[in-house]
Amino acid sequence: MHRRINTVLRMKESDIEITVKGWIRTRRDTGSFSFLELNDGSCLANLQVIADETLENYRDEVSRLSAGCSVVIRGVLQKSPAKGQDVELLARDVEVLGWADPESYPLQKKRHSLEFLRSISHLRPRTNALGAVTRVRSRLTVAVNSFFQEQGFIQVHTPIITTSDCEGAGEMFQVSATGEKGEKPFFGAPAGLTVSGQLQAEVYAQALGQVYTFGPTFRAENSNTSRHLAEFWMIEPEMSFCDLSCNIRLATDLLQYVIRDVLDNCAEDLALFNSFIEKGLIKKLQDIVAKDFVHITYTAAVEELGRVADTFEYPVRWGVDLQSEHERYLTEKVYKCPVIVTDYPASIKPFYMRLSDDGRTVAAMDILVPGIGEIVGGSQREERLDVLVKRMREAGIDTKEYDWYLDLRRYGTVPHAGFGLGFERLVQFATGMSNIREVIPFPRTPGFAPC
Ligand code: ATP
Ligand code: MN
Repeated sequence: MHRRINTVLRMKESDIEITVKGWIRTRRDTGSFSFLELNDGSCLANLQVIADETLENYRDEVSRLSAGCSVVIRGVLQKSPAKGQDVELLARDVEVLGWADPESYPLQKKRHSLEFLRSISHLRPRTNALGAVTRVRSRLTVAVNSFFQEQGFIQVHTPIITTSDCEGAGEMFQVSATGEKGEKPFFGAPAGLTVSGQLQAEVYAQALGQVYTFGPTFRAENSNTSRHLAEFWMIEPEMSFCDLSCNIRLATDLLQYVIRDVLDNCAEDLALFNSFIEKGLIKKLQDIVAKDFVHITYTAAVEELGRVADTFEYPVRWGVDLQSEHERYLTEKVYKCPVIVTDYPASIKPFYMRLSDDGRTVAAMDILVPGIGEIVGGSQREERLDVLVKRMREAGIDTKEYDWYLDLRRYGTVPHAGFGLGFERLVQFATGMSNIREVIPFPRTPGFAPC
């Protein structure tokens, strides 16, 4: 059996024979032997392999190895005299599985720009940066699930194809079976790819209490920003018997839990980002875990922003939604930490958010973080049938289409709340990647979906 390099590098015993498999990063020749740097994706570090000319295929093969070649190496693990590594492998046998022509293989030793790497999304996971992102993303997935598991949540798989548009907005991708025009729609009604699993999660929260979904969502928004994808993953907990402050507590605990988890489990990858992607990243993440978030109302935020109104492109006044530049000013310049903004005007928020006693704000909360802006959007939901129906009518929504949703208020309604955490924005925050296209394996954006 072969061993993964992450475990090999932690091995204390030496002079034992092992087999490793992976891809060559570099080959360096000195006199009668070659140093091979081998990477297998299990960790950032390479395993240094010493292959000398006594190997039977040294002249014909080993001395021709180049970046990208795949190999199986059997050898003896030894303490390394070199600085920066504890062990190295003295090769007894090197088998080449696949060559990679150095004339055409795009990943040569020099550092490539992230933009260039995006144009070769089938090869970029072989680089240090994208490999590290992929491992951190995977770890965050595990941490999210452990958090909810420990809190007694039940995971629900909400549908990807839906006939209800959660936001009532026109940013849904339409789904059609390839039938003739004029045929009945496949699902009996026009269907689209989900923009959020919230409404379906509410169904299950009202039976199982505390649930969450973690799945892909789709938005046909034509915004080519560094924070928007057409296909992204969202974590959406929904909790019965929970109000706005309980919702805020959960979102804060979740963010702190998952960041603490990657600090503990992805130290090597985070150190890479800290050096090459975002200076100060690790300190930023440690602060998130250690310090309380600031909590202000939308009204207070608008007052704060009003003092420096002329620094913004978009106007700020009560009743207008906060733009990304406003969100980032609050979290990066004013408070320099995550900011929870609550109690937004009802007029700029969806119908399902709970109307407050003042009649003009809703129990909404967004969490803004430095470098990104909005990472979480949530609210207490409207549990009162009459108020909900009134809000839907005002928004021009056909209540008949949402009869199932209204049933949840007709039969055993309870106060409940939830939020959506954009998973890629979380990965961006944890890695310091400034463009969201770097933190999902295969980004989909307007005009771009190569493989
Ligand atoms: P924004 O104002 O940034 O476009 P939003 O208010 O439309 O976001 P919500 O509907 O509140 O977003 O979705 C919940 C969360 O999903 C957001 O807080 C964000 O983290 C994430 N999110 C929303 N749209 C996208 C997108 N197009 N790509 C990636 N993540 C997204
Ligand atoms: Mn939002």
